[in-house]
Amino acid sequence: MKNDIIFNLLKVHQRIENACKISGRNPKDVQLLLATKTVPAAKIKIAIEAGETLMGENKMQELRDKDFELKNMPVERHFIGHLQTNKVKDVLKYVSCIQSVDRLNLADELHKQLQNQNRKLDIFVQVNTSYEESKFGLPPDEVLSFIKKIKSYETLNIKGLMTIGLLDVEKQKMIPSLRLLRTIRDEIYAEGIEGLTDLKLSMGMSQDLELAIAEGSNIVRIGTSIFGNRFLGKEIWNENIAE
Ligand SMILES: *Cc1c(COP(=O)(O)O)cnc(C)c1O
Repeated sequence: MKNDIIFNLLKVHQRIENACKISGRNPKDVQLLLATKTVPAAKIKIAIEAGETLMGENKMQELRDKDFELKNMPVERHFIGHLQTNKVKDVLKYVSCIQSVDRLNLADELHKQLQNQNRKLDIFVQVNTSYEESKFGLPPDEVLSFIKKIKSYETLNIKGLMTIGLLDVEKQKMIPSLRLLRTIRDEIYAEGIEGLTDLKLSMGMSQDLELAIAEGSNIVRIGTSIFGNRFLGKEIWNENIAE
């Protein structure tokens, strides 16, 4: 088990480096986030001990279950799953960043809880760039006005944009949903909003890592290629099921 994970990590880092080389990017500008849903803490620890410093969970329950084993490890925990407003308070106990902010009532609740705690939080705005009903995220054409609204919430540090790209066996079909996230970022930049001049793109998973890097990704979120398949049989992406 241990050797498998370490070997897989090496392969993933090689994939990242190759993709950077091909697109003329600096590998330092692409961070690897361990996507750890359904992965037991013991396995996550192996990856952390091998030098990984960033992980993302999709469910409050898993954050809580693994907290005892991970809280003293040198790893930054992000939340990358769909977040219900009634779970905000609990999730805030465990994470330093929420990558899945996708609606105003969630931003409102975060702002309220963070104000109570006198604390700030890094966030990413999740965008549904594949326009699939199975995914969460803001519709692309609502991102700019959403960002303008939450820009006044001083508790939220807007770090960037996140998407789950369209997954397909055909590469060409996966590119547009990744490219769109970058286009949206450029549109935000064009507005010249103060403080929003360095937005990161969180995109790319096991299947589309290389494509995402070619489109400018700064954080690739990888689960399967590191920890193995989560389900037996063919896995069809659905955030509702993945939750
Ligand atoms: C599961 C998950 C990933 C990783 O997907 P893999 O295909 O296993 O690499 C990335 N992002 C999110 C939001 C996820 O839920």
